[in-house]
Amino acid sequence: MSTADGATSWRRSPGGLVTALAPVMRAYDGAWVGWTGSPDDAPAPFSTDDMDLVAVPMSAEEIALYYEGFSNATLWPLYHDVIVQPEYHREWWDAYRAVNRRFAVAAASVAAQNAVVFIQDYQLQLVPQLLRELRPDLKIGFFLHIPFPPTELFAQLPWRRQILEGLLGADLVGFQRAGAASNFESLAETFTSAVLRDDALVLEDGREVLARAFPISIQVEEVARLAEDPEVQQRAATIREEVGSPQHILLGVDRLDYTKGIGHRFKAFGELLAEGSVTPDEAVLVQVATPSRERVEAYQTLRDEIELQVGRINGDYGRIGHPAVHYLHSSYDRTELVALLLAADVMVVTPLRDGMNLVAKEYVSARSDLRGALVLSEFAGAADELGDGAFLVNPHDIDGLKRTMLTAMRLDPAEAEQRMKLLRDHVTSHDVSRWATEILTALRAI
Ligand code: ADP
Repeated sequence: MSTADGATSWRRSPGGLVTALAPVMRAYDGAWVGWTGSPDDAPAPFSTDDMDLVAVPMSAEEIALYYEGFSNATLWPLYHDVIVQPEYHREWWDAYRAVNRRFAVAAASVAAQNAVVFIQDYQLQLVPQLLRELRPDLKIGFFLHIPFPPTELFAQLPWRRQILEGLLGADLVGFQRAGAASNFESLAETFTSAVLRDDALVLEDGREVLARAFPISIQVEEVARLAEDPEVQQRAATIREEVGSPQHILLGVDRLDYTKGIGHRFKAFGELLAEGSVTPDEAVLVQVATPSRERVEAYQTLRDEIELQVGRINGDYGRIGHPAVHYLHSSYDRTELVALLLAADVMVVTPLRDGMNLVAKEYVSARSDLRGALVLSEFAGAADELGDGAFLVNPHDIDGLKRTMLTAMRLDPAEAEQRMKLLRDHVTSHDVSRWATEILTALRAI
């Protein structure tokens, strides 16, 4: 973006992928090949924030067809259980192929001989194969940050074989959950000539591809350090006062995305208020809903629905100066975010489907005071790791969600402490640097 004096400064894009990978890139000293976020923008390679960046340009039309279209209105809903109907357009697919090719060419031109290239996420699934054709010397890893769907859903995709073959260009394909890796293996066996033998997919030319789960994490230290900062703790105390010092602050922090189950959360909370199970004086729900993909239609509809729900609940149960739901549609810096995590008694993470959910791990990392409770959807990747200490829920089961939210609010401090210890034992010993070491070691060992 341009600053007031006409110079250029860089702002990192929101979401889990960049949060997880920035520290890894700094530690490994590699080049990050990516899109700047604006149309037709291709500055020469540059360094910022301790990272070497190589920009790949994209036109406004490609952003519409490749990014908003095929990536976010075809693949994203298809890979997230078809919560919203995916759209299949041949023009979008053509743009997806063209942009993937451009990324492959860019990576091929900056990678050293025999280098490791690590490709990230659903927008670039054709790059492994394209890059291998250009540079057979490279070691190629791929990581999918979002879920990988079962055959029944993936089979809808008109270009299912091409996507699978694209991914099979990698030596190692990493997923968040073991179930996703086995979905990929059985799809590859069904729709390509690959055969599963001794845990590896064997291709016609004899090359082997490994598919495995590597659950991603966060930089635990960064969140923990902020949470120990007296100013941040003071800010958390101020937030509690500002929302009226209720007994229970429930918190949701999500991109405003239909996968996140924000509406289910509001429905449950609204019903708890309606029945009098909690009063607006006892409990408030703070919902940070980060603006996201605002040019995609499904996101505009979602925003309207969510804001209608907030208005209804506040209209029915709020009083002057005391809304029942504090709804914040904006981005925050890390300090304010951690202050919110510290202010919350119950963190409510209720996605209908989520690759991992880093916010759940951030909450745990912030709570060295061993207080607070985590309500976590079983449909988030994080449920595989945090099931012992969190309260797992099926967000579609509104009665179950209500019961679980109440249990979490009424949790006895000794049990809260015990649960938070279990959560912290796992998260603090599995941070993103461990993830990076494990996946890159597995890749190098091939
Ligand atoms: P996703 O990758 O689908 O957005 P995750 O929960 O895995 O979901 O990651 C979201 C990341 O974005 C977290 O690191 C979280 O702290 C951050 N984040 C979410 N909302 C905001 C916000 N309003 N301001 C700043 N950072 C945010």
